[in-house]
Amino acid sequence: SMASPALLMRVVASAYSVAEKAATIVRNVMSAGDLGIVEKAGPNDLQTKADRLVQMSICASLARKFPKVTIIGEEELPTDDVTEDLIEDGHCEEILKKPCPAQYTGIKEEELVIWVDPLDGTKEYTEGLLDHVTVLIGIAYGGKAIAGVINQPYYNYEAGAKAVLGRTIWGVLGMGAFGFQLTEAPAGKHIVVTTRSHSSALVNECIAALNPDHVIRVGGAGNKIIQLIEGKASAYVFASPGCKKWDTCAPEAILHAVGGKITDICGNSFQYNKEVKHMNSAGVLATLRNYDYYASRIPNAVKESLVP
Ligand code: AMP
Ligand code: MG
Ligand code: MG
Repeated sequence: SMASPALLMRVVASAYSVAEKAATIVRNVMSAGDLGIVEKAGPNDLQTKADRLVQMSICASLARKFPKVTIIGEEELPTDDVTEDLIEDGHCEEILKKPCPAQYTGIKEEELVIWVDPLDGTKEYTEGLLDHVTVLIGIAYGGKAIAGVINQPYYNYEAGAKAVLGRTIWGVLGMGAFGFQLTEAPAGKHIVVTTRSHSSALVNECIAALNPDHVIRVGGAGNKIIQLIEGKASAYVFASPGCKKWDTCAPEAILHAVGGKITDICGNSFQYNKEVKHMNSAGVLATLRNYDYYASRIPNAVKESLVP
């Protein structure tokens, strides 16, 4: 008889359904019209009702099924009881049927850390740039991002009423990534994707040094990784602190699952154990291909002004 599915595959299968519920909440809050915006560190660091409800939904749903897993969410919330309507207990049957990569079959709940960004691209969400928004659930083991789910609630929203709205991308190291069409960026062109709402002199100096053919400025770390795996951009370059572990964990797992690479601007890999500092103080450098081309052109002066 079939052995019961490995814990990792059960977590990914549940995270898939939990992320779809999250996307429904993101869309419902927007259509209801009251975003309930709160400033955190300042006007470029916002939280909405969707960030709050989605975090409660994701964390409570996963904690109920996997009580010994460490779950770290972006938002600091009062520990009110989560209402039952926010709980998702389903899972994706198709994911559960896939074999777990051999090196992960023995993982126990206590060994997993889940990094949750309930709504990545909040600034853009409040400005109506809806396809920049993603829901990020990253799964780490031994300090490494090994699996992730990225839901894009407004994928296709400009494609008309007949188009299916939203999609869920997921991946596991050693298995690959699914829910999108892996596409190479145009050969011989250097297209850099970066922040639109958190620029600085250093961010721009670093990009200029790469002498790109084109620069795309969009919100969200999840959205920028999607630009890389769909061939819209060849490098994600962000020479600034500001991005956190919940921004990079799910994107990193998916990018690495398809052969890409993400580090800080200095070339250091990210760690995702539960004790790690949340801030990615030395920024982000990510590519699907040709990582070394970009890494070798980051100016030393930029590296020296960003301390990991
Ligand atoms: P961005 O590319 O500007 O959308 O940033 C990617 C992620 O990092 C988002 O979750 C942002 O909220 C976060 N982030 C980047 N820079 C900052 C900053 N200066 N302050 C707060 N959050 C930031
Ligand atoms: Mg974020
Ligand atoms: Mg967020």
